[in-house]
Amino acid sequence: MNTGPVILIDVDGVLNPFTRPNRSYRRHRVSPDGVTFKLWLNAAHGRMLLELAEETGAELAWGSYWCDSANEWIAPRIGLPDPLPHVPIPRFPGEVAGGTLGAWKARHVADWAAGRPFVWFEDEPDVAERLTDLLHVGPHLLVSVNPLKGLLEGHLDRARAWLTALRADPSESGAS
Ligand SMILES: [Mg+2]
Repeated sequence: MNTGPVILIDVDGVLNPFTRPNRSYRRHRVSPDGVTFKLWLNAAHGRMLLELAEETGAELAWGSYWCDSANEWIAPRIGLPDPLPHVPIPRFPGEVAGGTLGAWKARHVADWAAGRPFVWFEDEPDVAERLTDLLHVGPHLLVSVNPLKGLLEGHLDRARAWLTALRADPSESGAS
């Protein structure tokens, strides 16, 4: 079983910003399960993420409601060649008492990671604080992405620095 660090990637608001931030993004129509979505995707993101994983020895995985369908509908459009593992995140049951979408996602990510260190590119605003509420969560870095701008070079730089420090001294990885 792999116990090394993971790089979790959200799709909506991270790879697919809510509006087109610049001309690097192209419009795509995708139809998982027969439902059509219009996405903005940046073809450079696949290479950027693959380089980050290569440089840091971390494993890429989906941390998104797209779950496994991201492999079919997102990955080929941004240049991620191989299927990635995914966190199985069920649809948010909005009626959970005191629950938020961020809490719901954080709980499923922490369960799936099972103590593995992870970096998470995510736009849900309360995920960072929700993660710290979870006792069983391992070392992690939540990299908050502005859903109007999408994933930027600076986000990957933060992840790279944290993962590099983790590799140099795993005992220092408690910082989130
Ligand atoms: Mg999102």
